[in-house]
Amino acid sequence: MVLDKDDFHVHLGHLLEKRCSKCRTWNPADHEFCDECGTTLKEKKVKTCGYCNESNRLTAHYCGKCGKPFESKER
Ligand SMILES: [Zn+2]
Ligand SMILES: [Zn+2]
Repeated sequence: MVLDKDDFHVHLGHLLEKRCSKCRTWNPADHEFCDECGTTLKEKKVKTCGYCNESNRLTAHYCGKCGKPFESKER
């Protein structure tokens, strides 16, 4: 799963744009929702633990708060 590289426009260390995970539209970096389809642009970076509701990085395999694995829950 490759996300960050293609979904962010970074220039000289500054995040310029980020891409909607749903419709692939580029949005300004300070937008929290896609101006094309309304999908949140923040959620992409986190996933919520089904046990304790803690927000974790999307790449996390285990919840940082309660230690439950994400894999078994999603499928
Ligand atoms: Zn969108
Ligand atoms: Zn948890």
